[in-house]
Amino acid sequence: MSEKAKSYKFKAEVNQLLDILVHSLYTNKEIFLRELVSNASDALDKVRFELTSGADVADKDLDLEINIKLDKDKKLISISDTGIGMTRDEIIKNIGTIAQSGSAEFLKQLAKDAEKKDVSNIIGKFGVGFYSVFMVAEEVVIKTKSYLKDEPPVEWRSSGMGSFQISELAEKLKRGTTIEVHLKEDAIEFTDKYRIESAIKNHSNFISFPIKVDKDKVNTVAAIWREPKSSIKKKDYEEFYKFMTYDQEPPMDTIHVSIDAPVQFNSIMFIPKRPFDLYGISREDIGLDLYVKSVLIQHKNSDLIPEYLGFLKGMVDSPDIPLNISRETLQENRVVMKISQTLVKQVLSHLEKKAKKEDEYNEFWKAHGRIFKLGYSDYVNQEKFSELLRFDSTAHAEADKLTSLAAYVERAKEDQKEIYYMSGASRDALLSDPHLEIFKRKGLEVLLLLDPVDEFLMTGLGKYKTEYAFTSVEQADLSKLDKVEDVEKADSKVEEMSEGETAVFKKLMEKIKDILGDRVTEVRESKRLRDSASCLVNPDGDMTSQMHKMMQFMNKDVSIPKKIFEINKDHALTRNLLKIYKNNPKDPFIDTTIEQLYESALLLEGYLNDPHKLVNRIQDILLKSSEWHPGKK
Ligand code: ADP
Repeated sequence: MSEKAKSYKFKAEVNQLLDILVHSLYTNKEIFLRELVSNASDALDKVRFELTSGADVADKDLDLEINIKLDKDKKLISISDTGIGMTRDEIIKNIGTIAQSGSAEFLKQLAKDAEKKDVSNIIGKFGVGFYSVFMVAEEVVIKTKSYLKDEPPVEWRSSGMGSFQISELAEKLKRGTTIEVHLKEDAIEFTDKYRIESAIKNHSNFISFPIKVDKDKVNTVAAIWREPKSSIKKKDYEEFYKFMTYDQEPPMDTIHVSIDAPVQFNSIMFIPKRPFDLYGISREDIGLDLYVKSVLIQHKNSDLIPEYLGFLKGMVDSPDIPLNISRETLQENRVVMKISQTLVKQVLSHLEKKAKKEDEYNEFWKAHGRIFKLGYSDYVNQEKFSELLRFDSTAHAEADKLTSLAAYVERAKEDQKEIYYMSGASRDALLSDPHLEIFKRKGLEVLLLLDPVDEFLMTGLGKYKTEYAFTSVEQADLSKLDKVEDVEKADSKVEEMSEGETAVFKKLMEKIKDILGDRVTEVRESKRLRDSASCLVNPDGDMTSQMHKMMQFMNKDVSIPKKIFEINKDHALTRNLLKIYKNNPKDPFIDTTIEQLYESALLLEGYLNDPHKLVNRIQDILLKSSEWHPGKK
């Protein structure tokens, strides 16, 4: 080491991470090798990129490869690459902090995984792979020389305990990086050649540069996507998938696309069995790896697939993109756009085929339907997209069955041009919502929407097949339903109101309006109710309650919206009130009942901020009804 060594402290979050890694007994320690080899491969990708775009690169003629040397006596394994290297500033910046913005989230997740004694899954995902070396290392020495000709070689050294030392290297060093891992006593198995080779075959077989262990090349698979489709086996795809994603489960589906015109490209895409955002990673995690002539240009390029297909993992390789393209201009690149359009079409037709098998498709829907729904803004593919949507519905009793729009339309009544929907927090809540009553009575199917994005989906699409309008049950024009025959008979015990009674009923409604004052916009007779005595309805043309609630939530608004109060003329309670009113229009029981009905409706809709009055009133009513109870005597 030179005299100019300087000591630096690790950032706090790195110390926490190291503390977990150094002191615990993990299984699966070999993943440190996967991480170091993957860093070496990234460094080689980067220098290849510089070389092809004509930059002035130090040691231009070095072979691009990864060399691993094993020394049993010194308990040492060293991993060298001829990649891009690091300058002094870069090594301080890159190694010593956690780049990921969600490092707090990471540590939380890590602590959980640490209990399970397997951190291999999470480490790579959060871009902290390098530190995993401290699971096996007593001391790590990095010697690196940047591809920039004027930058001197540097040495980084640490035992993973709080600090690291950096010094300039006196010895001459060629471009690239060597990581010397001084193994702990319990990790000397990693000086065994056979052990290392099998670890590499396991985790790093798809690295596109030669990996040599004591001079023998170990990895065998070249770019799998360049091979003819017919020669690739399911097992190869699965291995490639695991290599790319670190997912321990095989993918749900594999989509391999080779296109020659209008642009030439190869792509392998996977649909994972489960969504990947379990760790709270989302937007940054969307995209496909972009290669040009097998040179990796960018990990997770998000211009290649739209957000709603963000569940896909995979890669694209095209010779039609210039190798020296800058990452900033990729977004406007015509070829990238063309590729993206083609991929969307391919994925949608794949899903179309998949949808023919209901069970399989429902599984896809449950895993990825949530993000897929965002596709309502893809106007170009709206038709195909609509066919791929699935919904819960009143048409079936089972909560986990789903329906397509095509199936809804098939079941619809003659002349029905609406697709009715309602949205809320749970299936049970929706099924007992008063707004549904008339639809039940008329035998009209209603889609049950349980996901907040569904409302946007409905308004975004507007119509299905330009013919069927998505219509919220709250906003439906009920006069249209008069023509539809009841499938459930009305209660025959209810007598028609006489003319005289109707006149009194009108007065009663005026009285109700007086009681509720400007808390409601209007009191009117209901056409939609059967089992309930009353409900609240949005004033015409207004947004749905669910949408309104979302807006209120966003604006931190807790006010109670003014709605129309509807009364079911035929309900026994209404008829009783009518008699009470006829006897004495000022009877306070009417006030109590109306207040109670109004607040109950608010409660159902989730607007009741303070339940005290409601609860007190219930107690009064119970007391009164117990006075009348025949069993009391
Ligand atoms: P990640 O690789 O996910 O970014 P790491 O902690 O493994 O996270 O590495 C941190 C950074 O250190 C890398 O992003 C890279 O800039 C740099 N680095 C690591 N290994 C090498 C290497 N062999 N050559 C050049 N740079 C490297």
